[in-house]
Order: sequence, then C-alpha cells, then structure tokens
Amino acid sequence: MNSKGEGLEDCGIAELAAAVQSLSNSSLKDFADGDVVELMQRLETCKRQLSALDSRLIIEACDRSLPEGSAAKDVVPFLRQTLGLSKYDASLRVKIAMQCGEFFEPTGHLRPATLAKTAEAFEAGDISRDHVRNIIDVMNHLPADIPVQARAEAEEVLVGHSRIGWPDDLPKIGRDILARVDPDGKVVSDADRRRRRGLILGRPGVDGMSWIEGWLTPELRALLDAVFAKLARPGMCNIDDLESLAATAESVDSKVLEAAARRDRRDAGQRTHDALFALLQPGVDPAKLGSHRGLPVQAIVTMSLDDLERGAGVPTTASGGHVSINEALKMAEGTKPVLVVLDADGMPLYLGRCDRLASPAQRLALIARDKGCTRPGCETPASMCAVHHITDWAKGGPTDLNNLTLACDHCHALVNDSAESWKTVVMGKDSPYRGRTGWIAPKRLDPTGTPRVNDRHHVGQRVAAVIESSCLSWGSRAA
Ligand SMILES: [Zn+2]
Repeated sequence: MNSKGEGLEDCGIAELAAAVQSLSNSSLKDFADGDVVELMQRLETCKRQLSALDSRLIIEACDRSLPEGSAAKDVVPFLRQTLGLSKYDASLRVKIAMQCGEFFEPTGHLRPATLAKTAEAFEAGDISRDHVRNIIDVMNHLPADIPVQARAEAEEVLVGHSRIGWPDDLPKIGRDILARVDPDGKVVSDADRRRRRGLILGRPGVDGMSWIEGWLTPELRALLDAVFAKLARPGMCNIDDLESLAATAESVDSKVLEAAARRDRRDAGQRTHDALFALLQPGVDPAKLGSHRGLPVQAIVTMSLDDLERGAGVPTTASGGHVSINEALKMAEGTKPVLVVLDADGMPLYLGRCDRLASPAQRLALIARDKGCTRPGCETPASMCAVHHITDWAKGGPTDLNNLTLACDHCHALVNDSAESWKTVVMGKDSPYRGRTGWIAPKRLDPTGTPRVNDRHHVGQRVAAVIESSCLSWGSRAA
C-alpha cells in the first residue's frame, strides 16, 4: 500500500492485464486491412511505453536497495532472477535505465536523465528500445570534452532521426557525427584503429570447421567489399555448382551468370566464404579481377572538394563504409582505388553519352551522387547496384546522368511493364530533393502516387545540415 492508501490493484496493472486478455481473445479476422495495420502501430506504441516504464521500476528497485537485499546482490542478476531474463536483456534494461532514468541524489535532489530527450521520446512511445540502445552507443563514443551544447545537439539529431527512421541507420549517423565532432581524428585516430586490427582463426572443431573473428581496418574493409561485390554475387564462384562463373573468368557472360544465380541457394555468408576461397585459388590475382558492373574491381572512395580542402569530413566508400581523409588519400596513392571528388553542391559533372550502357565515368558519378539504391527504404550500397534508365532507353530515354539512377537488382526488377510496376521520376525544381530520383509505388501500396526519395544513403548530408545550421559550428573546433 502506498502513502495515499492505494494498493497494487489501484495502479492500473489489473486493468492492463484485462485489456491485454480482451485483445488476445478478440477475433482479428473481422478487422479491415487498414485496421490491422493501425492496431499493429498502436500496439507497438504501447509496447514501447511499457518498455520505458521498466526504467522507472528498475530505479525504484535500486533506490530501495532491493538487489542488495536479495540473494543476487547486484541489479543485473536481480533482474535475471526476478524476471527470468537473459544476461543481454537484463544488462540492456539496466543500461537504458541508467541513461534515461531520473535519480534522487544523496542530497534528496532529483537529477534529470542523462539523455533527457531520448527518455522523453521513449516514454511517448515514439522510439523503440532498439533506437535507444543505438543512441546510447553513439553518445558513449562522443569525446568527454565536447561542449554541453554540442552533446545536446548530437542527441537531438539522433532522436530526430529515430522518430522517422530505422534504428539500423543510427550507427552510420553516429559515425558522421563523430567525424564532425572529431574532424582531426583525436578521439578515434588512424593509429587507434590500426592498434585494434586483428583476425583470429579459431581452433578447428571436431567437424573440422573453424570459427573466424576479428576487426578489419576501414582500408581492408573497402578492398574486401570491392572484391566481394563481384565474387560473392549470386551465381559467382559457387563451390556447390561447377557451372557457376569462376573468379578467373575473363568476362562475365550475363546469360551464364543469370542462369547460375537462379540455381544459387547459398546465403550471404556462404557466398562470402566461397568468394574468399575463389580469391585464394592459384592463378587468381586480385589486381586483375577485371570489372564489376562496368568498373574495375577496386575500392571507390567519394569525398567533397570542401572536405578535401579542410582535411576533415567523412569520405564514403561505394559499399557504404567510412574512411578518414588520411586513409582515403593513402588508399588513393597506394592501392589505386578510384577517388571521386564532388563539387560544393554534391553534384558530379554532366557526362552525356549516347550508348545504351552507362560509361565507367557516369557510373562513378552515380556512385558519388546516389551512394546506393535509390528506392525508398532500400539499404543496398552502390557497389551492389545496377544503372537504371529513368525514362527507358527503348522509349527514347538518353544515357546521360539526368536520366540515370542506381538501383539494386531486386528494386530494378520492380520497374517493368506490369500493372504492379513501380515508376521512377526525376524530382522537379520545386522539390527539396531536386535532381534526385523519386519512386512511385503501385496504386495498391500508395493510392496517392506520391514520388518518394531514399534518404538512407544521405544521412551524412542531413546531419551536416542540422549541425551547420545550429548556433555551434563543431567544424570550427578543428580550425
Ligand atoms: Zn534496392
């Protein structure tokens, strides 16, 4: 019973249990399609709000020293014991409570949550536990000495994205923020990264298989990505299929590759394994792997002229990774990747051509401009994309940059002559996404027929815009 004389039954838990029971008993078959979707969304909001409530309960238990008083002695084992949670789940809940909860100081004062904006969005059900986990991870990587205002702005950028975007994009936004907060690489330097590099081949098991784990430098990652983009494609180097294309094949016969890809039942991990196996066969020279989708197999790094001049910023690779400016320049000297430098508007040059296929220069320009598949929501990086004509070549569409865009094989196939086809358009002058590719979903999915762009590969630009428009210019710290 609490100070107002209310017992556990007065706090609403009984009603909540009854509501859940009633929902579980209701027949979902009677709902219209739209209602099913709305129910899923409203239920998700409730689940998030309930997760946020965990933090308050954990703090309450700690304030009362319940873990210390139990056999568990500490809060994580206390949660495991009381609620039957996995170690990961219990630790995550405690981590979130420590960052998003309000604590009473020993003086009796209430200390606001460390991540107050995150806590507010979580309690409102606007962001999920996965969002919060990723935000905490990024915030923990920010340098301790940055101004309080800068830290608050970083949290605001992350929470702002979380309200409209996926949790999976937060590490990428985090890398962008870190590169802008720490442009001269004092916090995470090339030397730090090199120190952490390592690959461990575990002892072979009784079945002869070995586990592999470790950390790759961004340079090695960019080189491997370029090789895997070619050799780990469906239909390439399949050790189960002698008819699939070998790494040594002089040119890729698209008919043979397509047939082999249709037979290919491997998952992504198996394809990567087979690509590495193929790379190490006698006679295979990584430097002579030929071309992949019209470009030499090598790392492609993009950076803006402005970043190059300032010696700060976030160069990106065609496979969606980041390298530091120093690493990018070193790679350009040593291993001959292609370095694409963009003008101040982030737009490459106009490169008109009359061929059906885009030229390597156009493909590079597209990698720099689009960075990946342009269909909204798709996260396939540029290295796995094909060039798509916005107005079909057969219908008189020219092969110049204004009419070209990047699309992965899956999304490319969605644009066809059927009634269920997606359509692509160039976003007009009045759109904030002028010049980018808009995708219109079939009527069944979007009756309004609104063209939408894919922002997942452009989070860096969004972060830069927010930071640069704010009162505090982090970039100037390096100057
Ligand atoms: Zn796609």
